[in-house]
Amino acid sequence: MRGRVLCMLSYSWSGTCGSRSSTLPNRDQTWSSRQSYGDQKKKKKNSPAPAQETPAIAIAIAIAMALASSTSLCSPPLPCPRLRRRYSAAAPTVTASATTQRSDENIVIVGAGVAGLATALALRRLGVGAAVLEQGATLRAGGTSLTLFKNGWHVLDAIGVADELRAKYLRIQGMRMRSPAAGGRDLREFSFEEEAPGQEVRAVERRVLLETLASKLPPGTISFSSKLNSIAEQGPDGTLLELEDGRQILSKIVIGCDGVNSPIARWMGFSEPRYVGHMAFRGLAEYADGQPFEPKVNYIYGRGVRAGFVPVSPTKVYWFICFNRQDPGPKITDPAVLKSEALDLVRGWPSDLLAVMHSTPEGAVVRTPLVDRWLWPGRAPSASRGGRVVLVGDAWHPMTPNLGQGACCALEDAVVLARRLAPAASGGTNSIEAAMRAYEAERWSRVFPLTARAGLVGTLVQWENPAVCAVRDGVVIPRLVRLGPFLEHTNFECDLIEPTPQSPCP
Ligand SMILES: Cc1cc2nc3c(=O)[nH]c(=O)nc-3n(C[C@H](O)[C@H](O)[C@H](O)COP(=O)(O)OP(=O)(O)OC[C@H]3O[C@@H](n4cnc5c(N)ncnc54)[C@H](O)[C@@H]3O)c2cc1C
Repeated sequence: MRGRVLCMLSYSWSGTCGSRSSTLPNRDQTWSSRQSYGDQKKKKKNSPAPAQETPAIAIAIAIAMALASSTSLCSPPLPCPRLRRRYSAAAPTVTASATTQRSDENIVIVGAGVAGLATALALRRLGVGAAVLEQGATLRAGGTSLTLFKNGWHVLDAIGVADELRAKYLRIQGMRMRSPAAGGRDLREFSFEEEAPGQEVRAVERRVLLETLASKLPPGTISFSSKLNSIAEQGPDGTLLELEDGRQILSKIVIGCDGVNSPIARWMGFSEPRYVGHMAFRGLAEYADGQPFEPKVNYIYGRGVRAGFVPVSPTKVYWFICFNRQDPGPKITDPAVLKSEALDLVRGWPSDLLAVMHSTPEGAVVRTPLVDRWLWPGRAPSASRGGRVVLVGDAWHPMTPNLGQGACCALEDAVVLARRLAPAASGGTNSIEAAMRAYEAERWSRVFPLTARAGLVGTLVQWENPAVCAVRDGVVIPRLVRLGPFLEHTNFECDLIEPTPQSPCP
């Protein structure tokens, strides 16, 4: 059975990127004229997503994937020889400031999140300048932390910021799994050193990650309070971006790093991300006098609810709860309500988890519906459009956080795109369109299986059925899970990008 499932999936993933633009809506449609596109979206909502059409298979796959050994479907791509090329430096190409009413740019990156800043920095180190537009008045100050695995660290090494972050955040040594149904006792404990040698896991504060990336860009690169309002093709001249405050920017290349609700992806014909039926609470606990925990990821599995916590630094501990809910319901903004709702979900659970949650300032708790979008071959639009617009990170492939890979993959995208684009954008022989297509081909085979795997693992670990949970707690976790093969998706090689003399990074 497992072999059959693996074959089926291998088959579906062997598709090429060739004909994927067929489902695009009218390409002349601008984002500002979205009315008819909005109607299309409503119709699409009524037809179930492919992942929902085959629940039995999905469940079987989830088991196969979760237990996958070295033959894992999601075994990572081999280091691509093309990634090893070194490109000559080129002069920065930014030509005008975005503060004028109408300006021209060579490259505009929309969104100063992980993807946008990492892309800007990787391009910068390759000698190519880009302007970054961010809707917020500052970098995202909220948010809790992101657990980054070795693939994320390899990218941070490549763009020269890893050591600065390593100095602030603890290296996680292993993983502990428990169940409240089993009286909170350990189901399994893993050591990364023994089970997955070479793995590097650290949780970093999102705010600090963003600030560190931004600090390496030339002053003025990021234009804050610059919300993209509409986007329209302007033929060979490029793409016209109109901001909320009326400014217009004509850009030869637009890189959409505008996150999970990306307006650029919508304009390119992507469907809305799909709510997967569970939500997450996250928080960051503070211990001014030092936190007391071993550097381990702690997971606690209940029925339809799971929680965990990870020491981040000597004074901070990140925690999360994932819980099933038919629909996300109204947004809750009251911090006290958020915290008490979170505590209600895990009443009676192990006391260390509850202590971490109680040590969390009220404003440091967030609740997020979990969504994803599977890039089915032949159904999903292309990640680039006409050699002028391309998507990176969540804007292209939102995935559930069950593998802790969304930001790691956004970082991977950033270096792959920068290495493809930099030579073309600095007047090399390859066309920009070819560079974007090569990026998409290389990344699609990585991000589509990962998105699927993350979604299916979520289905598995969120099960409520008592019998299934008993098998999970009694057999699957204690006897079958193997950490090394399970983490094979974190294999990603990436050479350093040395800054060019023309683009020294602070
Ligand atoms: C509960 C949860 C836990 C997670 N945990 C992990 C984890 O442990 N490890 C991991 O690797 N990943 C994790 N992720 C995933 C991770 O958060 C995302 O994959 C990552 O933030 C994607 O980065 P991004 O830059 O693509 O998007 P974002 O971080 O969302 O950045 C998008 C940026 O674009 C800006 N923007 C949006 N619209 C506009 C506009 N119109 N004009 C201008 N700017 C705009 C936004 O303000 C924002 O700054 C988690 C996600 C969730 C939901």
